Amino acid sequence: MALLVITDDCTDCDACIEPCPNDAISIIEGLYIINKDLCTECVGHHEDPQCVEVCPSDCILPDPDHEETPEELQAKYESLQSAA
Ligand code: SF4
Ligand code: SF4
Repeated sequence: MALLVITDDCTDCDACIEPCPNDAISIIEGLYIINKDLCTECVGHHEDPQCVEVCPSDCILPDPDHEETPEELQAKYESLQSAA
């Protein structure tokens, strides 16, 4: 598994913002960006990445430059929960 990145095919439809359980997606200078410190690929919340599920453009893809194991994603989830 790898963290996710939004590609240039994004149509700014806004559909991915609300379903994200970690508020990891934001709009920065007009671009939709996934905060890698907050994205757990939905581990701890859902079976599948919710942003990918709702994106009509199929433009949220694995980022091969930022690999994370299921154990690392689970640890990030638990860290975020304890910080909340
Ligand atoms: S995979 Fe889940 S946590 Fe990561 S940005 Fe998408 S909805 Fe948010
Ligand atoms: S759901 Fe997909 S197309 Fe819509 S804003 Fe998010 S990344 Fe862009």
